[in-house]
Amino acid sequence: MKETTSRLKNFVFRIEIARKITQFLCFLLLNAIVFGFQPLPLLLPVLHSIWTPQKTVGDAFSVLQLMLYEVTFPWLPIAAFLLIAVVLNRATCGWVCPFGFIQDLLGYIKRKHSRVSSRTHKDMIKVKYGVLLIVLFVSGSLSILLATGVGQSFRRALGAFGSAPFDVLSPSNTIFATLPEIVLETRYAIPYWVETGADILGAIVNGILSKSILFWIQLAIMIGVVGLGIYIPRSWCRYLCPHGAALAFLNRFSFLGLERDPVRCTKVGCRSCVEVCPMNVPILELPWEKFTHPECIYCLKCVSACTTKAIRPQFP
Ligand code: SF4
Ligand code: SF4
Repeated sequence: MKETTSRLKNFVFRIEIARKITQFLCFLLLNAIVFGFQPLPLLLPVLHSIWTPQKTVGDAFSVLQLMLYEVTFPWLPIAAFLLIAVVLNRATCGWVCPFGFIQDLLGYIKRKHSRVSSRTHKDMIKVKYGVLLIVLFVSGSLSILLATGVGQSFRRALGAFGSAPFDVLSPSNTIFATLPEIVLETRYAIPYWVETGADILGAIVNGILSKSILFWIQLAIMIGVVGLGIYIPRSWCRYLCPHGAALAFLNRFSFLGLERDPVRCTKVGCRSCVEVCPMNVPILELPWEKFTHPECIYCLKCVSACTTKAIRPQFP
C-alpha cells in the first residue's frame, strides 16, 4: 500500500513537473528576444501582446486584429487557430500560453480556492464568447468599411481601440507591454535625473500619476484579473479569454481527447478528477469513450489524480 501511494505520488509529481517545465520554457521562448533571439516566423493561439517588443512568437489573435485593421484577410492567424485546434486543441492553454502559466502560479498562492456554483459557472463561461464576438465585430466592420473607402471616421472614432481593440484592455498586454515599457522608460531616465540632481522618487511618482485614464483602466483590469486568479483557478481562461473561446468553439474538430475506462473508474464516492480540475470540467458526466470538452486545457491533473488510472489522453 505504502509503495503504491509513493509510486502514485511520483507519477503525479512527474506530470505536473513536466508541465511546469514546459510552461516555463515556453514562457522564456516567447520572450526570448531579451536573450538575443530573433523573432520566429510562428503564430500561436496563446495570449501575449501585440505591443511587446521582446516577443519571439506571434500571438494569433493580436495579429488577426492587426491584419483586419490593415484591410488584409487574416488567413495566417486563422490557419494557426485551425491547425492548433485540430492537433492540440486547448493543450496550448495548459502547456504553452504564458498568461496561462501566470494564472497557474497565481493559483498556488492560496491553498483553498473559492467554489463557483455550477449555474454561475455555466453562465460565466459564455462571457468569453461575447468578448470574442465583440472584438471580431469591431475589427471586422472596421476592415469592411476601410475596404469600401468609408471607414476613416470610424477609425478615428475608435482611437486607441482601432488597431487591436482587445489588446488595449488585455491584462496580458499590461503585464507584457505597458508595465515593462514604464520600467524601461524609468531606467533610461534615471541617469538624466541623477545628472540634473532631480528628486528621483518624486519624478517616478509624477510620471505614474500623469498617465492617461486608459492606463489606469488597464491597470485596474489587470489587478482585477490577477486578484480573481488567486481565488478562482484559471478564472481568466474559464470566463474571459477570446483565445480560449475560439479554441473551445473548435474543440469538436480536435484529434486530442481524453478517455475514461469504465472498468477502472469507481465513480461512486470518488470525485478526485472533478475536484482537481482547474477548469471545472464535469468529467464524470462525459462519455466513457474518447471525449473532448470545450473547457479542457489538457493539463492532465485529472489523469494524475485518478488513483485507479482510469483516465487517459487519446490521440487521434
Ligand atoms: S484561455 Fe487564453 S489566457 Fe488562458 S491559457 Fe488559453 S490562451 Fe492563455
Ligand atoms: S478535464 Fe482533466 S485535463 Fe482537462 S482541464 Fe480538467 S483536469 Fe485538466
